[in-house]
Amino acid sequence: MTSSIRPPKKLVLIVVDGMTPDAFEHAVSSGRAPTLAYLAAHGEYRRATSVFPSLTPVCLSSIATGAGPDVHHIPSLAWWNRQEKRIVEYGSSFSALRKAGFSQAVLDTIVNMNEHHLSRDATTVYEALEDAGFVAGAINITCYRGRHRHVSNVPGLRRAVHGPSRFFFYNLYESDRTGAPFSGRGRKGGSVDAYAAGVGRWLVTRDGFDFLVYYLSDYDLASHAHGPLGAMDVALERVDASIRVLLDAAGGPDEFLDRYAVILLSDHGQTAVERVARLEPHFADLHGQVVVTATNRVGQVYLLPDATVDAADLARRLDREPAVEVTVRREGDEAVARRGGEDFPARELEHPDAAERVRAALANPNAGELLVSAAEGWELIDLGGRHHEGGGSHGSLVAGDSFVPLLTIGVDASPARITDVVPAVLRHFGVTPGSAGN
Ligand SMILES: [Zn+2]
Repeated sequence: MTSSIRPPKKLVLIVVDGMTPDAFEHAVSSGRAPTLAYLAAHGEYRRATSVFPSLTPVCLSSIATGAGPDVHHIPSLAWWNRQEKRIVEYGSSFSALRKAGFSQAVLDTIVNMNEHHLSRDATTVYEALEDAGFVAGAINITCYRGRHRHVSNVPGLRRAVHGPSRFFFYNLYESDRTGAPFSGRGRKGGSVDAYAAGVGRWLVTRDGFDFLVYYLSDYDLASHAHGPLGAMDVALERVDASIRVLLDAAGGPDEFLDRYAVILLSDHGQTAVERVARLEPHFADLHGQVVVTATNRVGQVYLLPDATVDAADLARRLDREPAVEVTVRREGDEAVARRGGEDFPARELEHPDAAERVRAALANPNAGELLVSAAEGWELIDLGGRHHEGGGSHGSLVAGDSFVPLLTIGVDASPARITDVVPAVLRHFGVTPGSAGN
């Protein structure tokens, strides 16, 4: 039987880690990023909101599943695993990885985040599309769970993982030999994105997918080092060049857009860090009763089973801490915020999409009983004693950490949250979203 229904246009989802709306808008208007300007001229642009905490593993899991942390269960870069009674550290810093036990932390980051921590109640975009017969690809994105088993070529990394059929993860796992160069060194010069670009060129040249996530991580690194303003000077052109590679591989910009619909966004924003503080001293006398995991601009405080204090007690201890803008906790079915020594309903918070973001963060079974959102200009020192003073950071509820640029081209949708992207992609392909979280 023949059908007059045309197959949906293929789609490339581009995620630029840590690029603020200001950076994207400056890139487009200043003429410094001709590829981004070309794409912006052919699409619809808006500022959208991230999730809370606005940290990469949480955000990328939300981008790839269309669900909040209440459904996908990834709570932070650093969190307390209640079942295993240990801290999980996905890489707040190299020192934090070492402090958490280097080989365990590397295993958590590369394998366990997707194989164990990412809830089965969430369906990834790769699972949904490949179940419907489309070919999905993922380059470097940390939320990659799919139906295909991949083994590593790297000696010592014996664990297999499950990704989409076209799967490339920092050359630790590669579904195809592309010849893309990889160097863990030279990260500040953009070596990781150079690898992504090499793989992206190979895939677009072959038109080897229906849906591809192209994840560029180096912009965030530059913004942590130089701050969100400084990053525009050192890293915008590199982002532009990394995206230009895809257009060139299709034969040019117009040919690229003839073949692919595009969604381009970042996972979270960044704000400047002027001062740093530690959360742990506020709870020093509660040894054996609480665990504190602080990273970037967010903290989680967990109550252990023998604790004689409650979350409200924990919140009061931070009343005089200038690094803390607001804390949130649950009391019954209510989300309660505390700021300046006063409790009030979290839905009254003025931060972007605060009510829903706080609800989803607190409803995550892996979240702490108390969540701490840092004040503008402050960062919370991590497990390894590291911070980004003088640079940039993110994780909090404030607007600068929470807004992201979001551009759609050839997609009949107006996503306003990063969790709206997957539902828009599935509709584009005519796939009914799974029951979970969508
Ligand atoms: Zn970051």
